[in-house]
Amino acid sequence: MLQSVVKGFTRAGELRQDDADLANRLAEASSIVIPMWRNRNLIATGRPTKPALLTVGEMGDLLGLGGAVVFLGLFEGVACFAYDLPPDREMNDEPALAERGDFNDLRMVGSLLKTHDAELLAYARGMLQWHRHHRFCARCGGETRSKQGGHVRLCLGCEKRHFPRTDPAIMVLVVHEDTCLLARQPTFPDGMFSVLAGFVEPGESIEDAVAREVREEVGLDVTDVCYAKSQPWPFPSSLMLGFSAQTEQPNVVLDREELEDARWFSRDDLRTGEIVFPPPFSLANHLITRFIGSG
Ligand SMILES: [Zn+2]
Repeated sequence: MLQSVVKGFTRAGELRQDDADLANRLAEASSIVIPMWRNRNLIATGRPTKPALLTVGEMGDLLGLGGAVVFLGLFEGVACFAYDLPPDREMNDEPALAERGDFNDLRMVGSLLKTHDAELLAYARGMLQWHRHHRFCARCGGETRSKQGGHVRLCLGCEKRHFPRTDPAIMVLVVHEDTCLLARQPTFPDGMFSVLAGFVEPGESIEDAVAREVREEVGLDVTDVCYAKSQPWPFPSSLMLGFSAQTEQPNVVLDREELEDARWFSRDDLRTGEIVFPPPFSLANHLITRFIGSG
């Protein structure tokens, strides 16, 4: 079964059940550690930009500082763990880390990484952030403990098992004849336009979420909702699902709470370079460049 498209990496979910085996793998000097600190990933010094993967041996005593450990999977057969270094302790000067790289925000460096590397770091970031935010049970308030290699947190009070969550969100490029609709949120950098986006709500299909978001934000009815591609977006825990959709209605009615502008762009408009697109690694960018290339 295809478990992952990350190059040379498998999540090996079947290994999460065996605590003793995982403890042995975490004690092996050659096992891989992806360190995080203050929600930042360690990025290797030099070019090209890539993650700094350390071994358990290289981490040494740093692994005993008590942060959350998550078994991510096997990297070409070698166990790979994410490890959260304590945020209250200065880590920039730790020799084992400093000689390998710097801690960076994945949102800032993601566009410089290869896709499979960015996804591996997103996995580590998403899991460790989930652990930081779920130390207590949402049902009874009791303390929770990490289980199954960090893929479950068990409540010590009511025994409820908590699982990492992923929040589905949609992005949609709306097409009318030979133009597509791009919009601006007030928080966007100058000149940037992007596709419409929003979260899927409880009890709603993804297709309905696409239609609702377009209607709410720009007042258009869409047909031919067509799935394109997805992208994990661990800021903090979204999965972006990309679509295109058609509309016969050219007249946009803006939701001023969400958007400050929305316009129809032809492929030639988008090729002028006057419009700033979302970052190259983003799903929004993919949807826009796919539209440009399709005509
Ligand atoms: Zn509980």
